[in-house]
Formats: sequence, C-alpha cells, structure tokens
Amino acid sequence: MSFSEFHGNAETVHRLREMLGRGRFPHAVVLSGGRGAGKYTLALMLAKALNCLDPRETDGLPDFCDRCANCTRIGLAADLDARFAEAVEARENLRETDKKETRLFVQTHPDVLIIPPDPPQMMIKMDQVRRVIETIYYRPSEGRERVYVFTDSAFMKEAANSLLKVLEEPPEFATIFLLTENPGELLPTIRSRSMVFQLAALPVEEIERDLAERHAEWKPPERALVARLSNGAVGRARGFDLESYVAARAHALTILSSALKGGEHSELFKATETYRAGAEGRVKTESLIQTLYSLLQDLMFVSSGTPELARNIDILSELKRLAELTDFDWIAMASDRLADVERGMRRNLLRSLSLDAFAAALEVS
Ligand SMILES: [Zn+2]
Repeated sequence: MSFSEFHGNAETVHRLREMLGRGRFPHAVVLSGGRGAGKYTLALMLAKALNCLDPRETDGLPDFCDRCANCTRIGLAADLDARFAEAVEARENLRETDKKETRLFVQTHPDVLIIPPDPPQMMIKMDQVRRVIETIYYRPSEGRERVYVFTDSAFMKEAANSLLKVLEEPPEFATIFLLTENPGELLPTIRSRSMVFQLAALPVEEIERDLAERHAEWKPPERALVARLSNGAVGRARGFDLESYVAARAHALTILSSALKGGEHSELFKATETYRAGAEGRVKTESLIQTLYSLLQDLMFVSSGTPELARNIDILSELKRLAELTDFDWIAMASDRLADVERGMRRNLLRSLSLDAFAAALEVS
C-alpha cells in the first residue's frame, strides 16, 4: 500500500504530502468528511509516512514503504472496528471497579495512539485526553513523530478544553489528527489551531467503476446498489459487506411489510429474535437500523415520484409495492420510532425487545 492507493481527493493528499516533504507538517490536522470518506485511512497513511524507517518517494513526494516495523505495526490498527471491539471486550472483562476507570484506546505502535469515542456515551472523555497530555511531551521511542488520532469529534466539554491547552503549545515531534463528519462540532478555538482538510465525496459513477475492478464478482445491479449506499465513500464501498447488508435488508423488509400488511407475525419474531445483546448483537442491530433508515428514505423517494433517487434500486419493484401502502406521515412516524430504538440502544435496552416495540409501534397507525 502507498498513497497512490488512496482513491479520490488527489489534491488534498498532494498538499498533505507536500507539507511532509517540506518537513513542516502541521501539529494539528482536522480531516473532515462523511463516514467512509477515508479520513482514518489517510491519517494512518500519514502516520506511517511520518514514521517509516525506509521512506521513499513517489511522484516526487514522500511516501511510505508499508513493510518496515513501524509501517507494519501502525498498519495493525487499520481495521478500526475490530480493534475497537477488542478494546471494548477487554474492558468488559475487567473487575467492576477497574472498568469505571478504564478508557478505550487502540494502540499497535508505542508512538501512535488512536483515541475512539468511549462507550456507552460514545464521546471522547477527559481521561482519554489526559493520556494524551501524559505522553505527548516525551520524545517518540521508536518513530520520529508521536501521532494521536481522535476518530470522532464528540468531545465532553472538559476534554475539549484540555485538548485545546495541548494545541496551544504542542511539542515539535507530535501530530494530532482530529477526524470529524462535522467540523462544526469542534470548538472554534480547536479548529483555529488546526489545519482543516475536507475529504469530498466521489460521484456514484466513479465508485461503480472502482467496484467493477475491485469487486468483479458483484453483478452490475449489486455494484450500483453498493455505490449508492456508500454516499461517495470509496473505502466504504470497497469494504462493503454485501451479504450482511442483504441479510439485514431482508429482516428490515419483514419488519416494514409486517407492519404495513398486518397478519402473520411469526416471520417478524423470527427476524427480531436473532438480534441479541452484547457487542456482536449491537453491531448487527445498528446495521439493521441503518438499513431501515435507508429503506424508509427510499420509500419516501418512491412515493414522492422520484424513484431514481432510491438507493436500493435492485428491489425497486418491491419498494413500489410497499410505497403504495404508506404515506408521508407514516414514513415520518416510522423514522421517529426508529430514532427511539436508537436512543434505547444507547441506554442499553435489550435489543430484541426494543425492535419488537418498534415493529408494534408501526402497526398502531
Ligand atoms: Zn515503512
């Protein structure tokens, strides 16, 4: 892997590499863009380039080898979801008293610390920033640059204020990446001390072309579906788990059609029963919720006479049948109830219980 494999946003990547080349990389970088736009991938690539033991040039600009000990170890953090799940599980296994005081981090290299939002609130907490403050003033031990990557911009107030203090006087040998879907979430004073780069979405056609190479095994309608579901994020499209999505969508359709058509509920309970508590169930339920949202949105497009905007275009005829049974009010109500389920999940209610409640609430109208 090298910078050439970062798809899209060539100009932004070029500028960042130029700054690397001049040895004047900013101490704080905000990478802004939708989910899957490549913020994390790019931050890790830059962390490798900052620390590569066998650095090279491509197109006259700095690149990384992706083979040396530093690149390899930093690369182990690439699957953020998996590393995050491991960290959550490790904490779950601690004694109650230790659990409370343990904050989540992902660290596969001594000089590179990844700071994910801490559950259940999914926010960056004071103790996480404290760890940054405790380590950032020590010279890197195995690389040239200490790198910190905040993977989300939802900071607790106290944590944001402490981070601001670090940004006022960062050491020479440290770089902080702040990844965000919405830079407005960051304190203005944090933004003004950082260089902000926007990673733009790619057009659907461009992602479809990329998928034709990367996922030749997918049929054209499947590639079209994935390209539309990825919101211009090529990384998300490439790594899209089509099988799981189609499975989740079948459940989502069962929930919606059982609510709209009434009658037999055994299919519905069979579907919701498979959503259990625990880390795995959480991921599964979250993807079901996202799928339900995308179907509701598509129903809205279809019923307002703009089916070409629908993303689940491979099941358009089924969506049209369902759309005939719905109206705007019902779709809006269903979206509200779905938001309730999401809130319930954050409070850790039993998954299948709140899904059944969701399905039942849809039927009342
Ligand atoms: Zn290297």
